[in-house]
Amino acid sequence: MVLAEHTGKQISEATYELLGKAHELASALGGVAEVALLGPRDLATQLGGAGVVISVDHPVLAEYLPEAYEQALLAVVAERAPRLVLMSNATAGLDLGAALSVRWQAPLAAYVTDLTAEDGTVVATAQILGGKIVAEVALPGERGIATVIGGAFPAAAGEGGGVPEVVDVAPPAGLDSLRMTLQQVVEPQGGDVDITAADVLVSVGRGIESSDNLELVAELGDALGVPLSASRPVVDAGWLPKTRQVGKSGLKVKPKAYLAFGISGAPEHLEGMRGAELIIACNTDPGAPIFNVAHYGTTVDLFDLVPALTERLSR
Ligand SMILES: Cc1cc2nc3c(=O)[nH]c(=O)nc-3n(C[C@H](O)[C@H](O)[C@H](O)COP(=O)(O)OP(=O)(O)OC[C@H]3O[C@@H](n4cnc5c(N)ncnc54)[C@H](O)[C@@H]3O)c2cc1C
Repeated sequence: MVLAEHTGKQISEATYELLGKAHELASALGGVAEVALLGPRDLATQLGGAGVVISVDHPVLAEYLPEAYEQALLAVVAERAPRLVLMSNATAGLDLGAALSVRWQAPLAAYVTDLTAEDGTVVATAQILGGKIVAEVALPGERGIATVIGGAFPAAAGEGGGVPEVVDVAPPAGLDSLRMTLQQVVEPQGGDVDITAADVLVSVGRGIESSDNLELVAELGDALGVPLSASRPVVDAGWLPKTRQVGKSGLKVKPKAYLAFGISGAPEHLEGMRGAELIIACNTDPGAPIFNVAHYGTTVDLFDLVPALTERLSR
């Protein structure tokens, strides 16, 4: 069972990534993949890749509200008894995965990057200690939960144009007497370039040293006709707006090419860009973790490489 992640209007890309994997696991385990849709029932039309959608529709589920989602999801798992519940390892999933684990008495693997099913046992590959250790975690028994890092699986296998069967589960009575109320949804700041829509990104990290040096990479971006993105320290320093931040607490990007200059490749950064088709990294430290995901890499000093590249591209 995949928990659909949505904004009230749009099903997230992460949901399709999970659904594709759920189909694969379901056929290995001899079952079917279902999607739990908490919130507007009409969003099921965006879930053509699911055979069955289990819908709980109630006004308090339109946006993520921890107490309401916990109650509704408990009602769904009680009714459907899934072998495994998959959620996105993002704001809602991290919160709800732990709550469901306690209330449903099921083991939880968080920060998951892969899942396999062997002899009826689900094995999750999970990052622990902030990604410094990668562990294989078995989820044996009759139930388990995994929260999966965005970009871990391709979305295409979960997309589809069919019309799913929708099974309605009655909203639990508790939804009408919640202790928690949603006050306000804060939309992200807009008005800047949308880095998630760019085919190519020139991305810059702390290796750039100061805001004065940003001009160097901006010139390379101009020569390529692409926007600048950045790691968190560059945004925290106020050198680029938050809308340019790639990573766990920034945006998830999937460009055709991602050029990383002076970025170490911390797990929180990789979470936002590991889905890029081509990753080219420039970092003077040959041991920098960015080289574990880069398709091409160089240890040349960025202050030598960037102007040379710009010059070459501008000819
Ligand atoms: C809850 C949480 C959320 C987070 N969210 C995010 C997020 O969304 N995005 C994000 O990016 N980070 C995030 N972080 C921070 C993350 O852990 C790292 O601290 C951050 O990604 C490091 O940024 P960096 O690679 O630019 O800097 P550093 O790790 O300092 O790396 C700088 C790199 O530049 C290289 N370098 C230095 N000089 C040169 C040169 N002249 N030429 C070439 N290379 C050079 C160095 O070798 C080094 O590897 C988060 C952390 C937490 C705890």
